[in-house]
Order: sequence, then C-alpha cells, then structure tokens
Amino acid sequence: MLTDSYGRQIKDLRVSLTDRCNFRCFYCLPNGEPPLARKETILTFEEIVEICGIFVSLGIEKIRLTGGEPLLRKDVEKLIEKLSKLKIRSEPPAVAGGLIYQLKDLALTTNGFSLERRAENLKKAGLDRVTISLDSLKKENFKRITGVDKLDEVLAAIEAAKRAGLEPVRVNAVVVRGTNDDEIVDLARFARENALSMRFIEYMPLDSAHEWDRKTVVSGREIFKRINEIFPLALKDQTRGSETAWKYSFADSSEGEIGIIAPVTEMFCGACSRIRLTADGQIRTCLFSTTEHNLRDKLRSGATREEIIEFIREVIFQKEPRHYINDAQFAPASRSMSFIGG
Ligand code: SAM
Ligand code: SF4
Repeated sequence: MLTDSYGRQIKDLRVSLTDRCNFRCFYCLPNGEPPLARKETILTFEEIVEICGIFVSLGIEKIRLTGGEPLLRKDVEKLIEKLSKLKIRSEPPAVAGGLIYQLKDLALTTNGFSLERRAENLKKAGLDRVTISLDSLKKENFKRITGVDKLDEVLAAIEAAKRAGLEPVRVNAVVVRGTNDDEIVDLARFARENALSMRFIEYMPLDSAHEWDRKTVVSGREIFKRINEIFPLALKDQTRGSETAWKYSFADSSEGEIGIIAPVTEMFCGACSRIRLTADGQIRTCLFSTTEHNLRDKLRSGATREEIIEFIREVIFQKEPRHYINDAQFAPASRSMSFIGG
C-alpha cells in the first residue's frame, strides 16, 4: 500500500504520454510550447509498462493515460494492450504483504480529435473507458476555446466511444466566465439527451500563458445552481471518498449524470489519492507541485526493483498536504496542465 505522510492512500496514477498537443485550449496551452527537448527524455512504452507494473504491485488501482494529447503518441493501442495485462491477477503475481494487487481500471483522457476511428481498437486493446473534453456545443465558441475547428469530430468521437463500449463515457468541460458559462445548461441537457457522465470543472491556474484570473472562475456552487434551476439534481452520495466530483443524477430519472469538480472554491486535497507521472518520467505528487522527482533517471541508472520501490515510497511521503491557490503567496506550478497530465 502506498501511503503519504498524512495517511492518504495513493491508488490513482495519471500517466502523461506526451507533452505535445494539436489543440490550443486557451486555459491550457494557448501558444503551444516546444515539445520536450529530446526524444530520449520521453519514457518508452517498455519503461511506462515497467513503472506501471511496479505502481500496481504497490496498490495503484486506477491508471489514466493523458497528456498533452495521448492519442498523438504513435501506437498507443500497443501500450494499452500491455498495460491491460496488469488487470489480470496472475500476470505478474503482484504480491505484497500477503495482499494481491491488480489494476482495476484503465482509462484515457483525450480531446477526441482522432477517437472516432480508433475507439474500437482501443477497446479491443483493453481500454476500459474514456473521458473526452468538450467545452462548447457551438462551433464558433469551440474554435475560440480550443483554437481548432473540430467540434464535429469531437461529437463523433463521443458517439464512437459509446458504440465501442468505452463506457461510461465521460465528458469534461472547463467552465470559464465570459467564455462558456452561458452553455452550462446546454451542456447538462446534452448529457441528459445522450446518457453521458458530464463533468464541469472549475478553471485552475495551470495555463501555460499564466493568464488565469480568479474573476473568471465559475464556482462549483454556481454551476450547480444554474443546472438545478432548469434540471433539478439529486446528490448521488453524501460522501465522495477520494473522488474529485460531487455526483448528481437528474431528479426526474432522466439518463445521464452531472459531476461538479471544484478544486478552487472547495478544496478536496484531504482525500486526494492521486499521483502523476510526466511524459519525461518525473513523479509529481500534486498538480500544483513546484518540484518533481526524477524516476526516469533512477530507472535508467540500473536501479533494482527494490530501489525503485524505495524511491517511490520516499517521494509519496513528500506529497503536499494541499494546494495553495487561495493563499496570498501562491506560486504557480512548475509546468502547465499539458505537461503535467490532467
Ligand atoms: N488533451 C486531452 C484533453 O484535453 O482531454 C488530455 C489532457 S488535458 C490537460 C486533461 C483535462 O485537463 C482536460 O479535460 C482539460 O479540459 C483539463 N484542463 C486543462 N487545463 C485546465 C485548467 N487550466 N483548469 C482546469 N482544467 C484544465
Ligand atoms: Fe491539448 Fe488537452 Fe490542453 Fe486542450 S486541454 S490544449 S486538448 S492538452
């Protein structure tokens, strides 16, 4: 079991496959950034599989592949095929302290640009589910937010993911005042009509341009209020455990689900179970970390499995108690969301 110094159990690993992206979402990577200097610094698939295997043997139950845009990484299906073996109990027998650990959930977050033609093969390779980003249902607004004219492709991706059984298909929308807050109810309606699990996320200071402005954050409470006025919502669970979202069903029993993620106005760090691995092999213990831990060099130095495990345990012990977005002395994270892996 991986436990930090505050007693939080770490069960959820986010793996960034690349820092590159073909979208230019203004809240993430508006101007684009040069990709990591050298190809050699990016973890190979073999290294990712080895690291994930170790993490699973230590109690990680969920792995989410992300980026940048993870589907830009060539042959990602092959990586998924290998990672999905971690879901099989007997291979390898990941035994620690008398407990047998295995991966329970393998997911991927994508902007959806190429998912329509790949959904089926991703499912066949062993992917359980996908999250697709969709911040607007209006063509012009979608383009203004993401920098690309790809709304139709993303809508087709959502359909293809459902057809392929990558379910429950989850859709992420970052809500930014003056940009898409007028679409909150439309997006909720879209979730109802298409039986989707829609996640509304507060805008966080993780954009590469450092233009985040508190005034543009639409609070989770306001998002709830606006949806609830039109489509009354029913809270699914009184507690959310280590989940980031408060989840609601529609009170009239319509299909679909609403999740509200409010890291800025309702911090949930006390229950955090997440850890992140960047494309260049750095462990980040928090989205807002200002330091990273070089697992890649440890691995490449020829360290034994035991030494790597010790390194991981020590790093996790240094996980920050919370983020400091609301403190006067807040220092932005050392990298933007596209590098860290959302
Ligand atoms: N490219 C993929 C995508 O867009 O789904 C995966 C990577 S992206 C960094 C992962 C998630 O982070 C997306 O749903 C995106 O909307 C969210 N995100 C990016 N920047 C954010 C910010 N500043 N605040 C809140 N969420 C953000
Ligand atoms: Fe690319 Fe995803 Fe960031 Fe948008 S949110 S720029 S699609 S990495």
